[in-house]
Parts: sequence; structure tokens; C-alpha cells
Amino acid sequence: MPDNTTVGGVSVDTRHWIGGERVASVETFADSSPIDGSVLGEISRGTPKEVAAAVAAAKAAFPAWAGTARAERARVLHAIADGVEKRLEELATVETHDNGALLRSHRRGVMPRVAHNFRFFADWLVKLDHEDFETRGHTNHVSWDPAGPSVLITPWNAPLMLATWKVAPALAAGNTVILKPAEWSPLTASLLADIAAEAGLPAGVLNVVQGYGAEIGDALTSHPDVRRISFTGSVPTAQRIAASAAANLTPLSLELGGKSPLLVFADADLDLAVDLAVEQYDNAGQVCLAATRILVEEAVAHEFTRRFVEKASRLQQGDPRDEATDIGPNIHPRQLEKIDGFVRRAVEAGARAVIGGHRKEGQYYAPTLLTDVAEDSEIVQEEVFGPVLTLQTFADEGEAIRLANDTRFGLAATVATGDPERAERVTAQLVAGTVWVNCFFVRDLQAPFGGSRHSGVGREGGTWSFDFYCDVKNTVTAP
Ligand code: NAD
Repeated sequence: MPDNTTVGGVSVDTRHWIGGERVASVETFADSSPIDGSVLGEISRGTPKEVAAAVAAAKAAFPAWAGTARAERARVLHAIADGVEKRLEELATVETHDNGALLRSHRRGVMPRVAHNFRFFADWLVKLDHEDFETRGHTNHVSWDPAGPSVLITPWNAPLMLATWKVAPALAAGNTVILKPAEWSPLTASLLADIAAEAGLPAGVLNVVQGYGAEIGDALTSHPDVRRISFTGSVPTAQRIAASAAANLTPLSLELGGKSPLLVFADADLDLAVDLAVEQYDNAGQVCLAATRILVEEAVAHEFTRRFVEKASRLQQGDPRDEATDIGPNIHPRQLEKIDGFVRRAVEAGARAVIGGHRKEGQYYAPTLLTDVAEDSEIVQEEVFGPVLTLQTFADEGEAIRLANDTRFGLAATVATGDPERAERVTAQLVAGTVWVNCFFVRDLQAPFGGSRHSGVGREGGTWSFDFYCDVKNTVTAP
């Protein structure tokens, strides 16, 4: 098998990256593009043997990296950000071929954010400090000690963005890393390994193991030398990881799925509310934060729906490399099948597709809005992870809040209202890690990010990331 492949003119190594060397597995798996189903490359199919080698490399590299001065670690992280910026076009191109998200988003939003992830945590590390406390003349000094080798497991919907949201703080904290990207989008993690090596990150500090989660997940998450596990993905996988990590009581950070609401009150700017609703089709609906349950006050439901349909029907669906495209393909035939199954069962149960409700040629699903959906139905309660929204109506604020919270998830919520006092009242009662008022997706990296209930455990961002990746220590010194 060849050791690399060329995607959109960019050469990508298809092997693991362990201890500063490329390592091949005996077997490979095919990685295909959602754009046209073509095979992009044959990727090394990891086994517990490569996992053990990667953890050993991370363990061996840990003392030196943990002992490296903060300023030097920050310098290397900035050099990685420089490398990302230098290769931004290549990263954007490869990511679009691999996961089907829009090239223009990768160029202008996602990859600049990848570089920013490194710069942000590098700068945060340098200023990370804590005021000392004093008790009866004794000083209490808080410090953040690097925890050790960290396993980072990531999904396919925003591969490099979500990976670096973990890799950057883990490395900044002084930890070493074993990154396991999703098998449906393995390529940019390999490019990141090249960029990190060129930036001078010592061998073994960042390791990338490719493969199927079902085959190597346990080896990664039950390893006694692993000190942290950070996972972004689905609830069932998180439950398996939590059970596996229990053997060593390894601390976990879990960023999981959602079924977030968009609450549209009659006093809202209706055009803004419609814009916010249509935005939920971004990335073909494969966004954990997506507000897929639209809740509209009865008085404006008809007009909202009319304007929504008008706007949504103007969306261009097609090749994600095309600048004019608004919605690209879904990641995999299996994902498409899953989306279609959800919609077919909803329609059989009485839902009405105001728009969409069907597959399109290739790996595409028509943007869909379903009405006449029961509150306790599968389509309202389960995460579809495709371009499928439901619309329910409410009579008053109390019912809006009740509907919004009637889910086992708690990742995010969006409120559209023209009344600031209502916004404050409603926000206080919503169960969600992030609440947006008259906006969506904007977020400062200093702020905590995460979900409540089945949407996750823990928070990432700013100091919260360092709290997770470090052993926080209090040193009490006598007067
Ligand atoms: P998934 O759970 O199927 O896979 C995620 C990762 O886990 C992959 O790398 C996979 O190989 C690995 N994995 C699978 N089985 C494993 C096991 N037994 N042990 C260890 N690792 C294993 O999720 P997905 O389909 O790739 O991603 C979609 C899900 O991710 C959605 O639910 C979405 O909402 C969620 N998500 C959440 C956030 C967030 O920040 N909260 C962000 C993006 C996606």
C-alpha cells in the first residue's frame, strides 16, 4: 500500500504519527469523499499495538515537555499556528474533500479559527495565574501541573477545528497527546502532525493514531498510563468510553450531541428570527449546536413559516467547492440513510414536510422543515444530525420554556425576542451550556463551552480547559 495519497493536489501521509515517526499498520481502510463517493486514500487501520506504541511515546515525551518553560511551549504553539496559516489553503481543500463541508467556510472561518485555537491557548497559558489566598498567615498557592498523556477522540463534522480545540490546550498545559480522528475524516489530523513537527514540537508530544473507534477505542480509553480523555462525539460512544475509563478513574471531558431549541417570540424581529432558523442548515445540519427544534409563538407562526420557506428555498445545494453553494453533501451513505429513516418515520407518524423530506441525487438530503410533530416523538427528541428542522408552536412564555427544556439534551438554546427583560427571564430558566439571544454561533474562547444533561460532562475554553488538562494543586506554606 502507498504511504500517502494526493487530495485536491495536496499530498497527505496515510500512516499513523507515533513518536515522531510515520508508522504503517498491516491493514488499511478506505476513506471516501462525500462529494462524489470517490476513494481519497487507504488509511492505516490502527490496532491496539499502535495504540500501545503511541501511549508509550507520549509517556516517554511527557517529562521533558511538561518541564519546558511556559514561554517556550507558547512559542511552539504560535509556530504551529504560523504553519496552519501558511498551509491554510491546503488544509481547507483537504478538509472539504474529506468531510464535504463548504470550502469557503473552511477558508474564511474554520481554518483561521484552527490557527487561533493555538494562538489563544498559547497566550492564555502565559497569563494563567491565580491570586494566592491567605489563611491564618499561611499562603495557599494554586498551580496548574500538567496531567500527563491525554487521549483526544474527535468526530467528523468539524475535524480539525474540534481536534485543535483539544490539542492546543492539552499541549499548552504541558501534556502529551494521542489524537484519534474520526475514521470518516482522517486526513487533516495527519497534516497537523506534519505542521507540528515542522514547528519544532518534540517527537512523541503529539501522536496521531488512525482507525475505527470500535476497534481501538477501548485500548485508548482503558490504558493505565493515560491521564486524561477528552471526547467529542455521540452519546452512545461517550457511555462506552465512560465505562472503559472507569477502570482507572481517568478524568473525562465529554462534548456530546444536542437537540437545541430556537425560541421565536412574537415580539422578535421576524426577519432576524428567520435568518437564525435558516442558518441551522449550515454544514448540512451536521452541527452539534444546531437549533433543530424551532419553537414559534402562535401569533406569528404562519408569517414566520411563510418567510422561512421563502428564504430556505433560495439556498443553493451542491458541490461544497463551489463558492455559490450554501449546503453541501452529508458525510456518508450511512448518515444519509439515518437521516432519511428519521424523516420517513416522522412522516408515517403524522408529520408534514413543509419543505424537503427526501433524499437528492448523490449524498445530499433536501433541507427539510417538519410541522405537526408530537412533543414526545422521535423526531423532536432525538438528534438527527442532518438538514432537518421541526417546528412547534407555543401560546405563552411558560409553554415556550417548558417545550425548550423537554429534552434529555442541554447543549445550547437560541432566543429571538425584542424584549430584553423577557430575554433575561427566559435565559435564566433554560437548561443549556450556551444561550444565544438574537444571534447564533458567536462565542469568545475565554468563555466556558459544553453541555448539560446528555450533552456532556465538563466545560472547555479559557481557564476551564486548563482546569481539565492539569492537576490543579494548592500549596500551603506556613508563615
Ligand atoms: P461518534 O461517537 O460515532 O464518533 C466520534 C469518535 O469516537 C470517532 O473518532 C470514533 O472513531 C470514536 N469512537 C467510536 N467508538 C468508540 C469507542 N468505543 N471508544 C472510543 N472511541 C470511539 O460520533 P460522530 O458520529 O463522529 O459525531 C457526531 C456526534 O458528535 C453528534 O452526536 C454530535 O452532536 C456530536 N458533536 C458534539 C460536539 C460538541 O462540542 N458538543 C461537537 C461536534 C459533534
